[in-house]
Amino acid sequence: MKAALLTAPQTFQIESIPPPQPKEGEVIVRVKRAGVCGSDIHFYEAGRIGETVLTDPFLMGHEFSGVIEDACGVSGAPQEGARVAVDPAVHCGVCPFCLAGRPNICPDVKFTGFPPYSGAFAEYISIPVQNVYPMPDEISDDCGPLLETLAVAVHTLELMGDVQGKNCAVLGAGPVGMLTMLTLRHYGANVRFLTEPVKDRREKAMQLGCEFAFDPAQTDEIEDHSKRTTNYGPDIIFETAGEPESYQAALEWVRPGGTVCIIGIYPQGAMPLDFTAARRKEAVIQLVRRSLPHNYPEAIRLAAEGAIDLPPLATHNFPLERIGDAFSTAHHKTDGVIKALVSP
Ligand SMILES: [Zn+2]
Ligand SMILES: [Zn+2]
Repeated sequence: MKAALLTAPQTFQIESIPPPQPKEGEVIVRVKRAGVCGSDIHFYEAGRIGETVLTDPFLMGHEFSGVIEDACGVSGAPQEGARVAVDPAVHCGVCPFCLAGRPNICPDVKFTGFPPYSGAFAEYISIPVQNVYPMPDEISDDCGPLLETLAVAVHTLELMGDVQGKNCAVLGAGPVGMLTMLTLRHYGANVRFLTEPVKDRREKAMQLGCEFAFDPAQTDEIEDHSKRTTNYGPDIIFETAGEPESYQAALEWVRPGGTVCIIGIYPQGAMPLDFTAARRKEAVIQLVRRSLPHNYPEAIRLAAEGAIDLPPLATHNFPLERIGDAFSTAHHKTDGVIKALVSP
Protein backbone atom coordinates (compact mmCIF):
# COMPACT_ATOMS: atom_id res chain seq x y z
CA MET A 1 0.00 0.00 0.00
CA LYS A 2 0.95 3.64 -0.39
CA ALA A 3 2.21 5.38 2.71
CA ALA A 4 3.80 8.76 3.49
CA LEU A 5 6.83 8.15 5.68
CA LEU A 6 8.62 10.92 7.53
CA THR A 7 12.22 10.03 6.69
CA ALA A 8 13.98 13.13 8.06
CA PRO A 9 12.84 16.47 9.48
CA GLN A 10 10.65 18.22 6.86
CA THR A 11 10.96 15.28 4.47
CA PHE A 12 8.20 12.87 3.51
CA GLN A 13 8.64 10.00 1.08
CA ILE A 14 5.70 8.25 -0.52
CA GLU A 15 6.60 4.58 -0.40
CA SER A 16 4.99 1.26 -1.07
CA ILE A 17 4.94 -0.70 2.19
CA PRO A 18 3.29 -4.01 3.18
CA PRO A 19 -0.37 -3.57 4.22
CA PRO A 20 -1.13 -3.94 7.95
CA GLN A 21 -1.50 -7.44 9.38
CA PRO A 22 -4.49 -7.28 11.77
CA LYS A 23 -4.02 -8.84 15.19
CA GLU A 24 -6.86 -10.62 16.97
CA GLY A 25 -9.81 -8.28 17.50
CA GLU A 26 -8.59 -5.78 14.92
CA VAL A 27 -10.32 -4.61 11.75
CA ILE A 28 -8.80 -3.01 8.66
CA VAL A 29 -9.88 0.54 7.88
CA ARG A 30 -9.32 2.15 4.49
CA VAL A 31 -8.29 5.68 5.41
CA LYS A 32 -10.32 8.39 3.68
CA ARG A 33 -9.01 11.48 5.50
CA ALA A 34 -6.24 12.01 8.03
CA GLY A 35 -5.70 15.34 9.75
CA VAL A 36 -2.42 17.14 10.43
CA CYS A 37 -2.15 17.75 14.18
CA GLY A 38 0.15 20.18 15.99
CA SER A 39 1.98 17.23 17.54
CA ASP A 40 2.65 15.80 14.05
CA ILE A 41 4.08 19.19 13.07
CA HIS A 42 6.59 19.06 15.94
CA PHE A 43 7.89 15.74 14.61
CA TYR A 44 7.91 17.10 11.08
CA GLU A 45 9.81 20.25 12.00
CA ALA A 46 12.23 18.95 14.58
CA GLY A 47 12.09 15.16 14.37
CA ARG A 48 11.10 15.07 18.04
CA ILE A 49 8.59 16.01 20.73
CA GLY A 50 10.25 16.44 24.13
CA GLU A 51 12.03 13.16 24.82
CA THR A 52 10.49 11.23 21.92
CA VAL A 53 12.99 11.36 19.07
CA LEU A 54 12.41 9.90 15.60
CA THR A 55 15.23 7.74 14.37
CA ASP A 56 13.72 5.48 11.66
CA PRO A 57 11.31 6.47 8.88
CA PHE A 58 7.96 6.85 10.60
CA LEU A 59 4.30 6.73 9.59
CA MET A 60 2.39 9.42 11.51
CA GLY A 61 -1.34 10.24 11.52
CA HIS A 62 -3.72 9.85 14.47
CA GLU A 63 -6.76 11.94 13.50
CA PHE A 64 -8.57 9.94 10.85
CA SER A 65 -11.73 8.40 9.52
CA GLY A 66 -12.47 5.94 6.75
CA VAL A 67 -14.45 2.85 5.83
CA ILE A 68 -14.23 -0.71 7.09
CA GLU A 69 -12.25 -2.55 4.42
CA ASP A 70 -12.15 -5.91 6.19
CA ALA A 71 -14.02 -6.73 9.41
CA CYS A 72 -11.61 -9.69 9.76
CA GLY A 73 -14.39 -11.88 11.22
CA VAL A 74 -14.37 -9.84 14.44
CA SER A 75 -17.72 -10.19 16.20
CA GLY A 76 -19.56 -6.92 16.71
CA ALA A 77 -17.52 -5.15 14.01
CA PRO A 78 -19.33 -2.70 11.71
CA GLN A 79 -20.09 -4.12 8.27
CA GLU A 80 -17.53 -3.88 5.53
CA GLY A 81 -18.03 -0.56 3.74
CA ALA A 82 -19.36 1.17 6.88
CA ARG A 83 -18.04 4.70 7.43
CA VAL A 84 -16.18 4.97 10.72
CA ALA A 85 -14.43 7.47 12.93
CA VAL A 86 -11.49 6.11 14.89
CA ASP A 87 -10.23 6.74 18.42
CA PRO A 88 -6.44 6.47 18.06
CA ALA A 89 -5.71 5.57 21.71
CA VAL A 90 -5.39 1.82 22.35
CA HIS A 91 -5.38 1.33 26.12
CA CYS A 92 -4.05 -1.67 28.01
CA GLY A 93 -7.38 -2.24 29.78
CA VAL A 94 -5.83 -3.90 32.84
CA CYS A 95 -3.82 -1.24 34.73
CA PRO A 96 -5.33 0.55 37.79
CA PHE A 97 -6.04 3.67 35.68
CA CYS A 98 -7.83 1.79 32.93
CA LEU A 99 -9.80 -0.13 35.56
CA ALA A 100 -10.70 3.13 37.32
CA GLY A 101 -12.21 4.54 34.12
CA ARG A 102 -9.29 6.84 33.34
CA PRO A 103 -7.64 5.07 30.39
CA ASN A 104 -6.40 8.40 29.00
CA ILE A 105 -3.67 8.27 31.67
CA CYS A 106 -2.85 4.58 31.03
CA PRO A 107 0.96 4.29 31.22
CA ASP A 108 0.83 1.46 28.66
CA VAL A 109 -1.32 3.21 26.05
CA LYS A 110 -0.44 2.51 22.43
CA PHE A 111 -1.21 5.74 20.63
CA THR A 112 -1.69 5.31 16.89
CA GLY A 113 0.67 7.45 14.86
CA PHE A 114 2.94 8.21 17.81
CA PRO A 115 6.29 6.36 17.82
CA PRO A 116 6.62 3.39 17.69
CA TYR A 117 2.97 2.80 16.58
CA SER A 118 2.29 3.39 12.89
CA GLY A 119 -0.43 5.84 11.92
CA ALA A 120 -2.88 6.75 9.21
CA PHE A 121 -1.03 8.68 6.51
CA ALA A 122 -1.42 5.52 4.42
CA GLU A 123 -4.12 3.67 2.48
CA TYR A 124 -4.95 1.16 5.24
CA ILE A 125 -4.58 0.74 8.96
CA SER A 126 -5.56 -2.04 11.36
CA ILE A 127 -7.13 -1.02 14.65
CA PRO A 128 -8.95 -2.79 17.52
CA VAL A 129 -12.69 -2.97 16.88
CA GLN A 130 -13.50 -1.11 20.11
CA ASN A 131 -11.69 1.94 18.69
CA VAL A 132 -13.99 2.32 15.68
CA TYR A 133 -17.30 4.23 15.84
CA PRO A 134 -19.86 4.23 13.03
CA MET A 135 -19.99 7.71 11.53
CA PRO A 136 -23.47 8.97 10.57
CA ASP A 137 -24.07 10.40 7.08
CA GLU A 138 -24.52 13.88 8.60
CA ILE A 139 -20.77 13.98 9.21
CA SER A 140 -18.73 14.41 6.02
CA ASP A 141 -15.45 12.62 5.35
CA ASP A 142 -13.64 15.94 5.76
CA CYS A 143 -15.06 16.39 9.25
CA GLY A 144 -14.26 12.85 10.44
CA PRO A 145 -10.72 13.61 11.66
CA LEU A 146 -11.98 16.61 13.66
CA LEU A 147 -13.97 14.25 15.89
CA GLU A 148 -10.74 13.30 17.64
CA THR A 149 -10.12 16.94 18.56
CA LEU A 150 -13.76 17.49 19.47
CA ALA A 151 -13.53 14.51 21.84
CA VAL A 152 -10.66 16.31 23.60
CA ALA A 153 -12.84 19.42 24.00
CA VAL A 154 -15.71 17.30 25.34
CA HIS A 155 -13.36 15.62 27.83
CA THR A 156 -11.98 19.00 28.90
CA LEU A 157 -15.44 20.36 29.69
CA GLU A 158 -16.30 17.17 31.51
CA LEU A 159 -13.31 17.86 33.78
CA MET A 160 -14.56 21.42 34.36
CA GLY A 161 -18.07 20.36 35.43
CA ASP A 162 -21.04 22.66 34.80
CA VAL A 163 -19.84 25.66 32.75
CA GLN A 164 -23.32 27.15 32.25
CA GLY A 165 -23.13 30.93 32.76
CA LYS A 166 -19.42 30.92 33.60
CA ASN A 167 -17.11 33.56 32.19
CA CYS A 168 -14.42 31.87 30.13
CA ALA A 169 -11.50 32.78 27.89
CA VAL A 170 -9.72 30.63 25.34
CA LEU A 171 -6.08 31.23 24.42
CA GLY A 172 -5.25 30.04 20.89
CA ALA A 173 -7.63 29.56 17.94
CA GLY A 174 -6.23 26.49 16.23
CA PRO A 175 -8.50 23.43 15.97
CA VAL A 176 -8.34 22.73 19.74
CA GLY A 177 -9.04 26.35 20.68
CA MET A 178 -11.89 26.70 18.18
CA LEU A 179 -13.53 23.45 19.28
CA THR A 180 -13.10 24.34 22.95
CA MET A 181 -14.78 27.70 22.26
CA LEU A 182 -17.65 26.10 20.32
CA THR A 183 -18.19 23.40 22.93
CA LEU A 184 -18.17 25.97 25.74
CA ARG A 185 -20.82 27.97 23.90
CA HIS A 186 -22.90 24.86 23.33
CA TYR A 187 -22.85 24.11 27.05
CA GLY A 188 -23.91 27.66 27.94
CA ALA A 189 -20.63 29.30 28.97
CA ASN A 190 -19.85 32.94 28.11
CA VAL A 191 -16.67 32.95 26.05
CA ARG A 192 -15.71 36.55 26.85
CA PHE A 193 -12.60 36.58 24.73
CA LEU A 194 -10.10 34.57 22.80
CA THR A 195 -6.49 35.38 21.97
CA GLU A 196 -4.77 34.37 18.76
CA PRO A 197 -1.86 35.92 16.82
CA VAL A 198 -3.15 34.90 13.35
CA LYS A 199 -5.64 37.45 11.98
CA ASP A 200 -7.61 34.96 9.80
CA ARG A 201 -8.17 32.79 12.84
CA ARG A 202 -9.36 35.69 14.97
CA GLU A 203 -11.87 36.61 12.27
CA LYS A 204 -13.11 33.05 12.00
CA ALA A 205 -13.46 32.78 15.78
CA MET A 206 -15.64 35.90 15.75
CA GLN A 207 -17.74 34.49 12.88
CA LEU A 208 -18.22 31.31 14.90
CA GLY A 209 -19.56 33.21 17.89
CA CYS A 210 -16.69 34.22 20.13
CA GLU A 211 -17.52 37.56 21.81
CA PHE A 212 -14.12 39.10 21.13
CA ALA A 213 -10.81 37.92 19.65
CA PHE A 214 -7.57 39.77 20.42
CA ASP A 215 -4.00 39.54 19.29
CA PRO A 216 -2.19 38.29 22.42
CA ALA A 217 0.17 41.28 22.15
CA GLN A 218 -2.78 43.65 22.92
CA THR A 219 -2.36 43.06 26.64
CA ASP A 220 -3.81 46.42 27.78
CA GLU A 221 -6.93 45.99 25.61
CA ILE A 222 -7.35 42.41 26.81
CA GLU A 223 -7.10 43.42 30.46
CA ASP A 224 -9.60 46.27 29.95
CA HIS A 225 -12.02 44.00 28.15
CA SER A 226 -11.65 41.28 30.76
CA LYS A 227 -12.33 43.75 33.58
CA ARG A 228 -15.39 45.12 31.79
CA THR A 229 -16.91 41.72 30.93
CA THR A 230 -15.87 39.59 33.90
CA ASN A 231 -15.03 42.10 36.65
CA TYR A 232 -12.32 40.04 38.43
CA GLY A 233 -11.21 37.96 35.45
CA PRO A 234 -12.50 34.81 33.75
CA ASP A 235 -13.68 31.93 35.96
CA ILE A 236 -11.85 29.51 33.65
CA ILE A 237 -9.11 30.18 31.12
CA PHE A 238 -8.38 27.44 28.58
CA GLU A 239 -4.82 27.46 27.29
CA THR A 240 -4.65 25.71 23.91
CA ALA A 241 -1.65 27.42 22.26
CA GLY A 242 1.15 25.62 24.08
CA GLU A 243 3.19 28.84 24.24
CA PRO A 244 5.05 30.02 27.38
CA GLU A 245 3.53 33.52 27.07
CA SER A 246 0.00 32.23 27.04
CA TYR A 247 0.53 29.88 30.00
CA GLN A 248 1.84 32.88 31.89
CA ALA A 249 -1.00 35.13 30.74
CA ALA A 250 -3.59 32.55 31.84
CA LEU A 251 -2.08 32.47 35.35
CA GLU A 252 -2.23 36.27 35.51
CA TRP A 253 -5.65 36.88 33.98
CA VAL A 254 -7.71 34.23 35.82
CA ARG A 255 -10.03 35.47 38.57
CA PRO A 256 -9.16 34.79 42.22
CA GLY A 257 -10.16 31.21 42.95
CA GLY A 258 -10.54 30.49 39.23
CA THR A 259 -9.16 27.68 37.10
CA VAL A 260 -6.51 27.57 34.42
CA CYS A 261 -7.12 24.59 32.20
CA ILE A 262 -4.10 23.61 30.13
CA ILE A 263 -4.72 21.64 26.94
CA GLY A 264 -1.90 23.06 24.81
CA ILE A 265 1.28 21.03 24.54
CA TYR A 266 4.63 22.75 24.97
CA PRO A 267 7.02 20.59 22.98
CA GLN A 268 10.35 21.70 24.39
CA GLY A 269 10.22 20.18 27.87
CA ALA A 270 10.71 22.50 30.87
CA MET A 271 9.01 25.90 30.75
CA PRO A 272 9.82 28.73 33.17
CA LEU A 273 6.62 30.03 34.78
CA ASP A 274 6.00 32.57 37.52
CA PHE A 275 3.26 31.21 39.77
CA THR A 276 3.21 34.19 42.16
CA ALA A 277 0.01 35.78 40.84
CA ALA A 278 -1.79 32.44 40.58
CA ARG A 279 -0.75 31.43 44.10
CA ARG A 280 -2.06 34.65 45.58
CA LYS A 281 -5.37 33.89 43.88
CA GLU A 282 -5.27 30.23 44.95
CA ALA A 283 -5.98 29.38 41.34
CA VAL A 284 -6.54 25.78 40.32
CA ILE A 285 -4.44 24.42 37.47
CA GLN A 286 -6.03 21.53 35.59
CA LEU A 287 -3.90 19.69 33.04
CA VAL A 288 -5.67 17.75 30.30
CA ARG A 289 -4.57 14.61 28.51
CA ARG A 290 -6.39 13.55 25.35
CA SER A 291 -9.90 12.15 25.91
CA LEU A 292 -11.87 9.19 27.27
CA PRO A 293 -13.54 6.51 25.13
CA HIS A 294 -17.05 7.69 26.04
CA ASN A 295 -16.25 11.22 24.78
CA TYR A 296 -16.11 9.88 21.23
CA PRO A 297 -19.79 8.98 20.85
CA GLU A 298 -20.67 12.32 22.46
CA ALA A 299 -18.45 14.15 19.93
CA ILE A 300 -20.15 12.25 17.09
CA ARG A 301 -23.60 13.13 18.44
CA LEU A 302 -22.75 16.84 18.79
CA ALA A 303 -21.35 16.98 15.25
CA ALA A 304 -24.15 14.93 13.66
CA GLU A 305 -26.84 17.10 15.28
CA GLY A 306 -25.06 20.25 14.14
CA ALA A 307 -24.66 21.42 17.74
CA ILE A 308 -20.96 21.85 16.96
CA ASP A 309 -20.38 23.11 13.43
CA LEU A 310 -17.33 21.24 12.11
CA PRO A 311 -17.34 22.08 8.36
CA PRO A 312 -15.90 25.63 8.75
CA LEU A 313 -12.88 24.11 10.49
CA ALA A 314 -12.02 21.46 7.84
CA THR A 315 -10.40 24.03 5.59
CA HIS A 316 -7.83 22.21 3.43
CA ASN A 317 -7.55 18.81 1.79
CA PHE A 318 -4.48 17.49 -0.05
CA PRO A 319 -3.79 14.19 -1.83
CA LEU A 320 -1.26 11.96 -0.03
CA GLU A 321 1.41 12.88 -2.59
CA ARG A 322 1.17 16.50 -1.41
CA ILE A 323 1.43 15.75 2.32
CA GLY A 324 4.44 18.09 2.54
CA ASP A 325 2.21 20.97 1.39
CA ALA A 326 -0.42 19.99 3.96
CA PHE A 327 2.22 20.15 6.70
CA SER A 328 3.75 23.43 5.59
CA THR A 329 0.29 25.05 5.27
CA ALA A 330 -0.64 23.85 8.76
CA HIS A 331 2.72 24.80 10.22
CA HIS A 332 2.86 28.31 8.76
CA LYS A 333 -0.91 28.84 9.35
CA THR A 334 -1.26 30.33 5.87
CA ASP A 335 -4.30 30.59 3.59
CA GLY A 336 -6.82 30.66 6.44
CA VAL A 337 -6.01 27.10 7.44
CA ILE A 338 -7.58 25.63 10.56
CA LYS A 339 -7.37 21.88 9.89
CA ALA A 340 -5.35 20.55 6.97
CA LEU A 341 -6.32 17.08 5.81
CA VAL A 342 -4.62 14.46 3.69
CA SER A 343 -6.52 11.96 1.51
CA PRO A 344 -4.55 8.71 1.13
ZN1 LIG B 1 -3.75 15.39 17.65
ZN1 LIG C 1 -4.01 0.81 31.16
